[in-house]
Amino acid sequence: MSTWTGPQPFDRCQDRRFDADWVASLWPASRVLGVTGTGRLTASPGGLDWSAPAGAYDDQRHYLLGLVGDQAVFAEQVADAPVTLREVMDGLADAELEVAFTAAALVGWHARAGFCPVCGAGTVAAGGGLLRQCTGCGVELHPRTDPAVIVAILDADDRLLLGRQPVWPERRYSVFAGFAEAGESLEQAVHREMAEEIGLALADVTYLGSQPWPFPQSLMVGFRARAASADVRLLDGEIEQARWFTRSELSAAIASGEVLLPMTTSIANRMINSWLDGRLGPA
Ligand SMILES: [Zn+2]
Repeated sequence: MSTWTGPQPFDRCQDRRFDADWVASLWPASRVLGVTGTGRLTASPGGLDWSAPAGAYDDQRHYLLGLVGDQAVFAEQVADAPVTLREVMDGLADAELEVAFTAAALVGWHARAGFCPVCGAGTVAAGGGLLRQCTGCGVELHPRTDPAVIVAILDADDRLLLGRQPVWPERRYSVFAGFAEAGESLEQAVHREMAEEIGLALADVTYLGSQPWPFPQSLMVGFRARAASADVRLLDGEIEQARWFTRSELSAAIASGEVLLPMTTSIANRMINSWLDGRLGPA
């Protein structure tokens, strides 16, 4: 399972991708993954369904993801595709998962960034799909990533707090998450979000690790924190239930099916399992 702590398993070709002729020369022998602007892709539960390039290279909808070994791989923006990334991501090998996350994040951003936020004119893809440039004022636009914090909250007895949102599948529980706001640090987002959602004051906020979360354009940043008290108050309606677990209680609840954990490719799942294994610390 990828922990997103080593180098990526593909080369993004940052040094050569502004050479348009070089990028175009890669196209005929490349492998292509179809991706929609809403994150559907050509894949099946066992893996990504790569295809040979069809037609001429079009730098406005063929985006160079990079080189996997010597193999050039592109994402092609398509109108429809058979599955969502969520439906297949737990079944992908690490290398394919990281390529798929990149493709979904990149194509989704291109699909939403057709107009310049500065002057309103249209934008065009540049750098082999790395960025977009405004046709009016010329400003360069880079893919947005929205940071979100996700927090494993422990009490004085080393119990873990899990909660559930009403929109989640039945019996799904997870650690707590929220977006960072303008002008605050990630640690401050942890303090604010948890005060807002569950009324807890936290101490010892410690960074654990991060992973991209292209739904549609987040970066999940994991933390561990200690609650000053175990007195949870559900304040803003986002969380419908919150419950403290000992390790044996959670293991039993998972075994009985009373609790379903988040998807295995999520940082939330890794954080919870790390705590169960007694090794919840910086990655
Ligand atoms: Zn502009």
